[in-house]
Amino acid sequence: MLKFIREGLICLIAGVAGVAGAAGSAQAASTYTADDFARVPKFDAHVHANSDDRVFLDVAVKDGFEIMSINVDYPDFPKLETQADIAHKLAAADPAHFHFATTFSMIGFGGADWTANTVAHLDSELARGALAVKVWKNIGMVEKNAQGQLIMLDDPGFDGVMKHLEERGIPLIAHQAEPKNCWLPLDAMTTENDRSYFRDHPEYYMYLHPEQPSYESLMDARDRFVARHPQLHFVGAHMASLEWSVDRLARFLDAYPNASIDLAARMTQVQYQSKTQYAKVRRFFVHYQDRILYGTDLTAEPPDATERAQNPPTKGAFSTEADTFWRSDWVYLATSGRQNIEAIKAGVKGLALPKKVIDKVYYANARRVFGLTSSPPYPR
Ligand SMILES: [Zn+2]
Repeated sequence: MLKFIREGLICLIAGVAGVAGAAGSAQAASTYTADDFARVPKFDAHVHANSDDRVFLDVAVKDGFEIMSINVDYPDFPKLETQADIAHKLAAADPAHFHFATTFSMIGFGGADWTANTVAHLDSELARGALAVKVWKNIGMVEKNAQGQLIMLDDPGFDGVMKHLEERGIPLIAHQAEPKNCWLPLDAMTTENDRSYFRDHPEYYMYLHPEQPSYESLMDARDRFVARHPQLHFVGAHMASLEWSVDRLARFLDAYPNASIDLAARMTQVQYQSKTQYAKVRRFFVHYQDRILYGTDLTAEPPDATERAQNPPTKGAFSTEADTFWRSDWVYLATSGRQNIEAIKAGVKGLALPKKVIDKVYYANARRVFGLTSSPPYPR
């Protein structure tokens, strides 16, 4: 079993047991096999390489991945300056495989200088090679204005910064709210990873905090924000927190043509749905094949392990963790192989998405969204 921390949830998956190594012969021409994993160019659009070494890059290169490492204002991660220093160093070391997204602090928000200072900071990071900007769930759930009210993403105070990103064509990666499970009783949650995490972290478990904004009010604020910035390329991290329903997600994508989503840390929710609605989930991926970015939320430990919330994987184990996780997702999305997914206590059949869909979800969409239009600078 694997266990790792992400900036919001712990994820548990089973080992890839009983995986069928190859797709059926009828599908062989149109789908990949498990053995194709390492050779097909891939892009993990949502990771956190917080470690000041090549541990993440080495396994990414071995497994055929480019990675987008996202700096984020998360208390259990290294401070923002340290995250930026690590990103600059790794981008310089391997610009073909390492990409990064910058972020900004909410300190001083609403003050006279915040917009100008934030724009200057973002421009500086973009000049260093950042390809996107991240906003985290602290907007909407933690940060408060001078009146003591939570600051929502559609607050006009963000307009100057977002207009700047629109004008520069820089995508915004937004993690807003939490999985819907966070607002449900434990026995109504759909995945074990959510259940165990929120049971162990009552401070983050919104079902216990009715004074906090509801799930739907956070979704509404996010939707108003996306509508307010129609020229901004919006990447809804973690399936835009609509992970529980491909129908609902389809309505979001239909309503906001400037939006795409990443799959980070929500694959078990997709698998939960495909267990009973296999054809519908598969149709979702095919229909929205240009709007979905593969991502995991894999997190290499920060330099100071005590800054991790709990149980950081040892340095030697991270490459195994990443490899196993990536291969499990590949079997699920690219092949018809079966595997046991512990987080939903079920055997799950792979979606066997067509090669052209896999090539977009796993690679071309991220390259396009993040402005990497050239061919990959290494052999395919
Ligand atoms: Zn993340």
